Amino acid sequence: MTRTFRTAPEAVRRVRRDPRFRAALDARIPEAQWRSRGECLRHDPELFFPNAAEDPADALRVCGECEVAGPCLAAALDVGECDGVWGATTPDERRAMRAAWPVPQRVSG
Ligand code: SF4
Repeated sequence: MTRTFRTAPEAVRRVRRDPRFRAALDARIPEAQWRSRGECLRHDPELFFPNAAEDPADALRVCGECEVAGPCLAAALDVGECDGVWGATTPDERRAMRAAWPVPQRVSG
């Protein structure tokens, strides 16, 4: 049996006001080189993939100081990234954001 999770309308409205979400929308077609400017490159990658028992606060703090958090979150939402901390969001936060996220654009050519 497949379970389908629906996001409550109020959660979607809240997400649309979230400054992290708005920054991701503004960076929806991210510049190609954003990954090379991520603050996470200076940290252990494991920090950004805490297990269920670990607190993601340290990763969220690093992302909060990252100049490319918008494009990072946009990329994670475009592909439906389910694991780890991306663009200063947890997987649960992104689940709600996905409900309000536009369908990813395809680049042809
Ligand atoms: S927002 Fe976080 S995960 Fe994304 S590039 Fe910046 S530091 Fe890395």
